Amino acid sequence: MAELTYPDLDTYRREVFAREDELLKGVMPGAASQGLPRISISPESGKTLYLLAKAIGARRILEFGSLAGYSGIWLARALPVDGCFISLEVDPKHAEVSRKNLAAAGLADRTEVRVGEGAALMRDVADEGPFDLVFIDADKENYPVYLDYALENTRVGGLIVADNANGHGHVHESLDAGDGRRGIQEYNRRVAGHPGLVSNVIPVGGWLAVSLVLETV
Ligand code: SAH
Ligand code: MG
Repeated sequence: MAELTYPDLDTYRREVFAREDELLKGVMPGAASQGLPRISISPESGKTLYLLAKAIGARRILEFGSLAGYSGIWLARALPVDGCFISLEVDPKHAEVSRKNLAAAGLADRTEVRVGEGAALMRDVADEGPFDLVFIDADKENYPVYLDYALENTRVGGLIVADNANGHGHVHESLDAGDGRRGIQEYNRRVAGHPGLVSNVIPVGGWLAVSLVLETV
């Protein structure tokens, strides 16, 4: 019998390590049919978030930017039954689609999607921290603001993770003053140089910037 082969390395990697189940496979096509943009994390990034959350035994996770709940499903699946995933989303329609998808995944009991500006809502959820993992994937200009919050509200040994660390492929370039991706440049600079963090980029999807919170923060 011929050995199973794949058309290219990316397909191999996805099929072997980051395969989506039927539910995950349907989330973004379903969201797109309702007019949501297809800007979720990749399956490889989802599997990485799942692995990271599992690795630290995460029980409390905070997310900035839900969209359709795709990343939320990966993250919330890593939680124990009494765990808690809170996602902050400015667009009510996105929040509604996200809630439906999290419920369809059987995760309604441990997930919550709140509607509003992340920078305002984050103050209300501080009581529910400290968090084991904070995942930042909302408006790019506010990444530094979300970072300040995460530094104060993530436990020692916890992780602060940001998506799109490559700034849609332009993080290494000089960007115009009004470009939101300057927020990513600042974010990367700060986490990379922060003495209270160990940071690196995991270059899956649009790159995940991953920071481990040390005791000295
Ligand atoms: N994490 C999702 C993708 C998020 S896309 C996934 O990978 O599946 C970015 C989301 O951030 C969008 O849904 C957008 O509406 C939301 N967003 C944009 N600005 C925001 C803000 N100021 N506060 C909270 N959410 C915001
Ligand atoms: Mg993203």
